[in-house]
Amino acid sequence: MARDLPANDGETVGAQGQIRKVEFVRIIVQALFALGYHQAGATLEEESGIRLQSPVVTKFREDVLAGRWDESVATLAKLGISEEEILKSASFLILQQKFVESLESGDTIGGLKTLRTEITPLGINIRRVHQLASFTLCSSSEVLLESVEWEGAGQDYRQRVLEELQQLLPPSIMVPEKRLEHLVEQALEVQRESCLFHISADHALSLYTDHRCTRKQRRPCK
Ligand SMILES: [Zn+2]
Repeated sequence: MARDLPANDGETVGAQGQIRKVEFVRIIVQALFALGYHQAGATLEEESGIRLQSPVVTKFREDVLAGRWDESVATLAKLGISEEEILKSASFLILQQKFVESLESGDTIGGLKTLRTEITPLGINIRRVHQLASFTLCSSSEVLLESVEWEGAGQDYRQRVLEELQQLLPPSIMVPEKRLEHLVEQALEVQRESCLFHISADHALSLYTDHRCTRKQRRPCK
């Protein structure tokens, strides 16, 4: 088994010494998993001793996607986040979804209980809390979902909640989605923008070489 996330030991890769090896390996593991190469990703974690995420973060993600809201809040507290504002905001996102899913399933009393005993005591987003309270008066779940501009319960929306949580939590705890792709696209964009003779942005650029059009080309580059 791979060890827990190691502290940054200062080891770097690259000629300029600006890339932390731990971060570098983690985003490669993430890319492998995202590409469906689960075995390769797990092997890299094992061999490097560097995990994409700690077991508690894995559990947190699973709890959110499975709609285990109480467990999600409990696991959130174990992620090692010290900033109370972040914890409150993350709890709010989780409990808001718990509330909406209760109402959608017709459990208005359960929803109200969540609102009064769990969401309101957080003491944040007061206007939103009032808005949520008004939703309990909705005559049907369809009206409710229209009111909250919500797609409702289910995997897609839970995935969106997870993405919102990801934006809130420190990236060292939950690495933002598609980080490697984002960095590569950013590098290509910089090369394209600095290309003096570039005409068209329609073509994919090669990853094998740095992009540069010559004056003679004056045509869309490949
Ligand atoms: Zn060009």
